Formats: sequence, C-alpha cells, structure tokens
Amino acid sequence: MIETDVVPYLSDLRSLELIQLHDVVKVYQTAAGDFTALKGITMDIQQGEFIGIIGKSGAGKSTLLNMITGVDHITSGEVRIDGTSVHKISENRRATWRGQTLGIIYQSFQLLPMLTLVDNIVLPMDFSGFYRGRASRQRALELLTAVELEGHAHKLPAYISGGQQQRVAIARALANDPPIIIADEPTGSLDTITADAIFSLFELLIEQGKTIVMVTHDNSLAPRFTRRVHIRDGQIDRIS
Ligand code: ADP
Repeated sequence: MIETDVVPYLSDLRSLELIQLHDVVKVYQTAAGDFTALKGITMDIQQGEFIGIIGKSGAGKSTLLNMITGVDHITSGEVRIDGTSVHKISENRRATWRGQTLGIIYQSFQLLPMLTLVDNIVLPMDFSGFYRGRASRQRALELLTAVELEGHAHKLPAYISGGQQQRVAIARALANDPPIIIADEPTGSLDTITADAIFSLFELLIEQGKTIVMVTHDNSLAPRFTRRVHIRDGQIDRIS
C-alpha cells in the first residue's frame, strides 16, 4: 500500500537529477602497480546546473569527467545519466548515446585541421544521423552564427585564433543538441579576456536550459558556477 504512494514521488525526484554518481572508483593499472585515481565519488547533478569541478592538477578531475562520459572503463560504482547506467550501455550503442546526450569540449579544442569550421561542426551530425545533408549544413551555419563566427565558416582552424577555435568547439559540442555539456579546462589555454567571453557563452547555454559540468583549476572562475565540487586526492573535499 505504502509503496504505491512512495514510488511516483521518488521517480519525480529522480527526474531532477540528470547525472547521478554513486561510489565511483577508478583504479589505473600501471607498471608501478595499481593507482586509485577516484576513491568513491557520490554526487548528483540537477538539470540546469553549471557545475565547476575544481582541484589541483592530479586531483582526479579529468578522470571524473571520463567516468561521466563513459570514454574510459569504471572500476566500480555507477554513473547514471537521465536514468541510463552509462557503463552498462553496449559498445555499439555507446557512440550514438554519447552524441545524443553529451557535448564534449577539450582544453586543446581538437578541431580536425583539414576540415573547414563548418565541416568540423557537420561531422558529429553525420555520425549521429540526427541531422543529414542540407539540414546538417544549415544547422552548422546557424551554430557558427550563434558563436559569432559565421564570417569564418569556410576557413581552416589554423587560420583563426585560439578563442575562436574554442567557440567552434562549443558550436560542435552543440551540434546534436545534447542536454549536457562536459568541458575539460575549456579556458585553460586562453587569455583572461577570451576566457571570460567563453565563460559568458556557457552562462548563456545555462539560461537556455543546458546542464554544464566544467573542470577548471582556475579559482577566479569559481564564483560564476552555480555549484562547486572541490576534488582532492580522488575524493570530494567539499561542495560549495
Ligand atoms: P586532474 O585532471 O585533476 O589533473 P587526472 O584525472 O588527470 O587529474 O589524474 C588523476 C591521477 O591519476 C593523477 O595522479 C594521474 O597521474 C593519474 N592518471 C591519470 N590517467 C592515468 C592513466 N591513464 N594511467 C595511470 N595513471 C593515470
């Protein structure tokens, strides 16, 4: 009897928690022996949050992102995104799931150097098949306009600045309109003014309903997150 009352209530709560980490452990096997990079991380991230993962170099921040995106194996524990257990998705479904669910942004932009900016953005749409042909090209141009780079669409990445390349990488991350953006030190190689502009772009995405998890070791950015998760030695030191 009680269960019928409780279950819908719990499922309502769960829908707010877009990303759930439960006792996430990551052990790397190295020639020198096992190294535990994450020692049991448990936290929930709600839809619409702008989360900063903060900590010194080597604390485990990138490892944590890799556990959320499922690009690396988990040793134990569980990551659920919108109710899906990330590390249980079969190999052949994982790439499609990732394209649909996550946009990933790296410190080093990782644009393909031989493709024009517009083609760099079309590529993930080609992979996912969500937008095809003319529609994907049209969408890529719209995304370039959103990051104010429409005039550069047919240039190669080498011919634009670092800040502009990162804006293209953000446009590429949005290609399949994923609800979640994961960013690993996206402003790490940019000057302060450019970093500020990139950060403002993220804040705009939050206003549009995206959820962002961003790693940084730059404490000056910390006040701008909606919540800060401080990582030390593979553990949550505090949440502020
Ligand atoms: P952060 O992103 O906070 O700088 P990382 O998650 O990259 O930290 O690394 C956390 C720890 O795990 C570091 O001590 C690092 O040397 C180690 N580590 C990261 N990747 C590997 C790997 N592939 N093999 C072995 N050790 C690793």
